[in-house]
Amino acid sequence: METKELWKSILNELKDTVRKGDLLTWFDRTAILARQNGSITIGIPTLFAREEVVRKFTDKVFDAAKKVDDTIGEISFHLDSKLANKDDDRAVDMGQFFKQFDTKMRKLPNKQEVKIGNTGLTSFMLNPRYALDNFVVGSDTRLAHAACMAVGFQPGGKYNPLFIYGGVGLGKTHLLQGTGNEILKNYPDKIVIYGTAEKFTNEIVEAIKKYDTKGIRDRYRRADVLIMDDIQFFANKGRTQEEFFHTFNELFDANKQIIISSDRPPKELDGIEDRLISRFESGMIVDVHFPDYETRLAILQEKCKEHGELISREVLDFIASNVHHSVRELEGVLLQAIAQAALESSTPTVRSVGDILRKLNRNGDAPIIGYEPSAREHRRVKNAGELIDIVAAYFDVGVSEIVGPKRNREFMVPRQLGMYLLRHELQFSYDRIGAEFGGRNHSTSMHACNLIGKQLKKDEKLLRDVNAIKREMGL
Ligand code: ADP
Ligand code: MG
Repeated sequence: METKELWKSILNELKDTVRKGDLLTWFDRTAILARQNGSITIGIPTLFAREEVVRKFTDKVFDAAKKVDDTIGEISFHLDSKLANKDDDRAVDMGQFFKQFDTKMRKLPNKQEVKIGNTGLTSFMLNPRYALDNFVVGSDTRLAHAACMAVGFQPGGKYNPLFIYGGVGLGKTHLLQGTGNEILKNYPDKIVIYGTAEKFTNEIVEAIKKYDTKGIRDRYRRADVLIMDDIQFFANKGRTQEEFFHTFNELFDANKQIIISSDRPPKELDGIEDRLISRFESGMIVDVHFPDYETRLAILQEKCKEHGELISREVLDFIASNVHHSVRELEGVLLQAIAQAALESSTPTVRSVGDILRKLNRNGDAPIIGYEPSAREHRRVKNAGELIDIVAAYFDVGVSEIVGPKRNREFMVPRQLGMYLLRHELQFSYDRIGAEFGGRNHSTSMHACNLIGKQLKKDEKLLRDVNAIKREMGL
């Protein structure tokens, strides 16, 4: 261990026996100056501080040092006034040193991970994207959501521990983090620690290598709310389970809230000690399921809102009918459709989503409802009637209104677009176009085509509409 790290570890131990005020006053800008054959020399920047430390804290420093490294048999204290210099980075600044313990997970909203001082630990923070009020509640998740709300309102109350289980991609992490965010909203001073069981395990492994599991214990035990995601990961990891068991008990006994998720109910957690399982079973257990059709549609609408996308009901409906595995997949298909459409300057259509689903091939042999690729592929628009049908359907207006006389904007745009597409995709003459559109004349259709052509250069939404319609036309 480097001498500075060693000194910090010793100071960390000293926290248990020396008051914080004393540490800040007498140990500020101290350092280990030398280390040799079980003897360490500690440097102190002022004479006065040196005398105080020698007089009051020699034994405590010695005990703390022994705890960190029991080969240490001798300690001496030297004056080294250079340490007072802020640039001397051998010295430990006690103000900084204590700050690391005040790290609150929510202070850095955009970063996913935060390093905890010199302990080498990292912890995942809450993602503000997950909230209890953007979690769409369906009949199958009502209980889970209600339990989370109750915990958000009163952590450490009736529902402790709260245990949420269910398959992958069904919203467990969302609920866990949403609850953490809710608690912080209601109690801004609480320390909420969110981590995955995998992360916790890795931290334990690292700490064992460095003979420093205390640091982890200290950190987790500072939590007012401990959230541990995917606890099934602890299976067959005895030492990790043991550490977790102690942390769990300590927090639980102090009425701190514990929230846990797992891919299966406590009883089915093979490879996890009975004593942990019975702790899990002592609180509130709720499960999450794959949502029904209506809820899936509502989730898609919520996600569109979050991403600021307007997507037709027909397309959302199509996605909701064809995703059968998880909410994550539901969201994934939607986002892929949006991303692809953006690349093509288009908007998602049933056809483009159908292609994505087909590529994902997650349905196996299950037919894709409302989408027959072969029929669509052969469908290439060849005449004006078909083209106008598609334009009308896309804008959700009647064919008679497109070709009719009304000059409302909601009919004008589809009409002009239809004319433009006839001209550019099916190479109709202006006269023929006019004829298809209710007997309008040459100059009307020419004007419409020029107008759309110009607008397409600056109106992105219009461009997306045109491209989407072209896709629907099989072009
Ligand atoms: P899990 O942890 O169970 O594997 P997640 O919580 O990561 O699943 O959920 C996967 C994705 O689905 C997340 O983006 C989440 O926001 C979303 N999600 C799941 N259920 C819902 C829901 N009921 N309402 C809104 N979004 C949801
Ligand atoms: Mg998860």
